[in-house]
Amino acid sequence: MENHIQKAADILSHTERLLVLTGAGISTSAGIPDFRGDKGIYTLGTVSEDIFDLRAFRDDPKRFWEFGKKFIFTMEKAAPTPMHRFIKKLEIRMETTVVTQNIDGIHEKAGSTDVIELHGSFSSLTCLSCGKTYAYKGKQDQIMETNSPICECGGALKPDIVFFGEPVQDLKKAFKKAADADTMMIIGSSLTVYPASLLPSYFKGKMIVVNKGPVSGITITDLFLDIEADRAAIELSKILFPGEEI
Ligand SMILES: [Zn+2]
Repeated sequence: MENHIQKAADILSHTERLLVLTGAGISTSAGIPDFRGDKGIYTLGTVSEDIFDLRAFRDDPKRFWEFGKKFIFTMEKAAPTPMHRFIKKLEIRMETTVVTQNIDGIHEKAGSTDVIELHGSFSSLTCLSCGKTYAYKGKQDQIMETNSPICECGGALKPDIVFFGEPVQDLKKAFKKAADADTMMIIGSSLTVYPASLLPSYFKGKMIVVNKGPVSGITITDLFLDIEADRAAIELSKILFPGEEI
């Protein structure tokens, strides 16, 4: 594995434009549960799989918000992991774009400046009737008290997380960034979820994959680090930023 870490560090030290694709595996050590992992919220049956279904939300927003407010609370208090901080730090050395499947907002919290959130974010809410948007913070009390935030028009407010039945966001921008990058790093994703799974096909440079467990669609020319994201961050940081805290 040391050999792989060194190779990854060599690739990164010759990179000008980096695209990082992150999935749930980067945030589990921050306390954010994933969906279908061993302790995932679907696997454990914490919520039913239609909780992020648009039609189910329209039928009964309260049902979503009972779960959603706890989930958002967990995301709000989560701190960046060593890997989130490492990705931010790479901006010193190269142009770095983060494309994430996560909705936890932790890349922004870590200070990353170019983040594409394919599945949206909980930081704003949109009215399903008139389309007006609100900051989550301004509606937080109403959510906690009533499980039913509403717009001034009376319509139900939905968090700007991409639900099943809605298109993902900024996909074209993500594909363009992939096409322009000379290195891609995939972190904490098994690449099974569309459309993030398509991203590597738009890319022709060097690929580094960091994921504990198998990843679909990678080839033998890709550098695969089968380790936890934080361990990779700490080891890579020792080489790329010697003597510095991560
Ligand atoms: Zn409205």
